[in-house]
Amino acid sequence: MVEKINLTFLGTGSSIPTARRNHPAVLLRYKGENVLVDCGEGTQRQFRKAWLNPCKITKILISHWHGDHVLGLPGLLMTMVKNGYNKSLEIYGPRGTNEKVRQYFDLFAAKGQDLDVKVKEVSSGVIFDGGDFFVECCEVDHDCPAVAYSFVVKEKARLDKGKLAKLKIGNSPLVGELANGKVVTINGKRVDGKKLIFREGQRKVSFVMDTRYNEGIVKFVKGADVLVSEATHSVDEQEIATEYGHMTSVDAAKVAKKGKVKSLVLVHLSQRYDAVPKVILKEAAAVFKNVRVVEDLDVVEL
Ligand SMILES: [Zn+2]
Ligand SMILES: [Zn+2]
Repeated sequence: MVEKINLTFLGTGSSIPTARRNHPAVLLRYKGENVLVDCGEGTQRQFRKAWLNPCKITKILISHWHGDHVLGLPGLLMTMVKNGYNKSLEIYGPRGTNEKVRQYFDLFAAKGQDLDVKVKEVSSGVIFDGGDFFVECCEVDHDCPAVAYSFVVKEKARLDKGKLAKLKIGNSPLVGELANGKVVTINGKRVDGKKLIFREGQRKVSFVMDTRYNEGIVKFVKGADVLVSEATHSVDEQEIATEYGHMTSVDAAKVAKKGKVKSLVLVHLSQRYDAVPKVILKEAAAVFKNVRVVEDLDVVEL
């Protein structure tokens, strides 16, 4: 069975949260990994609403240190300490992240010191290799150090369980040999392992938070199955978007189209579009068809 990648959108708003849209945060779950991308204010309550357990978090990926992406960290970490979080928590973020995390712990006289936190400042390339998956990042163009992330499940060879069952060899050591593509003899018949193997393709999810449009992002998200992208503004506000380091609906759609991604999920909408996300959706869909604007607590699986 193919292990699903599950994305839960905990917050889909931008700098000013609304009743409908919380500050940005997405939880990606794959096997034992629970990767939180950004942690805006109120993220820990969104975990509750989504029936998710913050103590399962393994990694936090910070796109940048603007408040809307990190104001939820002190509260979330405090809750994790109170609930006996006993793993080593990895926090990844752009240049300056070490100092910011230290300042956070100082500021709140919190029991943050009780957490085993490992901070890694990142700028580009693979930042973690978990065996069958990896996480990579690239710098983006905002008005403070900022990065985009991709979570990639590697392509792998799998045994066709249906074909295997027909051989009636149970858990025999021959299964391992077939899985390695070897030729084995079963009841006098030669069976070629390679004929039982199929390739499960790579799966990639990219997260592009606050940034101006640039070609580097197109390259970075290339071929993603799901591109989660900010689309703060309508195309009518292109000037404001560029001035404040954001993308419009059409910018995000252009990244998706040029990067040949399979689907585009828009988040980080300005409060102007809170009641009318269709404005953003329609503009983006005119450039890239397979697009949706998600709401808080929406789930996407792949
Ligand atoms: Zn933001
Ligand atoms: Zn920002």
